[in-house]
Amino acid sequence: MDRTELIEKRKRLEESIADADMVLVGVGEEFNESFGDIGSFPHLMSALEEVDIDQTLEWTVPFLEHRFLIEHNEGRLISAYRKLYELIQQKNYFVITTCIDENIKKAAFDTGRLVEPCGNYERFQCSEKCCNELYPSKDFSDLVYQAILDNVGLDSLEIPRCPVCGKALAYNNILCEQNYVEEGYQKQWEKYTKWLQGTLNKKLCILEFGVELNLPNIIRWPFEKVAFYNQKASFFRVNESLYQMAENLGDKGVSIARNAVDFLLECKE
Ligand SMILES: [Zn+2]
Repeated sequence: MDRTELIEKRKRLEESIADADMVLVGVGEEFNESFGDIGSFPHLMSALEEVDIDQTLEWTVPFLEHRFLIEHNEGRLISAYRKLYELIQQKNYFVITTCIDENIKKAAFDTGRLVEPCGNYERFQCSEKCCNELYPSKDFSDLVYQAILDNVGLDSLEIPRCPVCGKALAYNNILCEQNYVEEGYQKQWEKYTKWLQGTLNKKLCILEFGVELNLPNIIRWPFEKVAFYNQKASFFRVNESLYQMAENLGDKGVSIARNAVDFLLECKE
């Protein structure tokens, strides 16, 4: 895609947002946290070195990653989220994301208008899914942090355990695979589906940013369906490699062959 075409499509996207009654946003794989900046956090690096030496500490890695997510408040992903927020903040919007890293919450989005069906790091669940109970993760996260700060060694920590069956607790997200407890996002999901029902006959601008095909039934396919059935919809798909637009969307669909994070970073103030 050449420069002129990109500028033209960006303009069309901005106009479409301005003109819309409602804005539906999907955020996917291109926004996944890579933990690439973890090297700038020496206390976390030395904790990871400790894990390298003692394999029995492997269980602490997700907790160190969570700590990184708490402390890492700048960077390209977060800047891109801020740009996205600027684009849609005046609108009646809803955001659905497959990311679990909660970076999106570092921009000023209304979390009442956000659903994270793949979970996040806010709560624990039983890793064996003996029940659907969820527990706040904050206290344990603070404990890990304290152990790092005090330099007492990660081996002073004990893995948090399910109060029901005694198996390890894990963060309530899709990394639990088949044991993932889906209760965590249900309330927001109901809000989301209700909001979606309200888009019918409304001028709806659909923005899909960096969504690939790992979990197509969460964002990609449903968005195409919503765009197809809404006569007043416009649908922008921004993606570096999987930018192809469904043919049945005709003029409604605009495909932008650009990494979604870069695309947003290039948006002007
Ligand atoms: Zn259990």
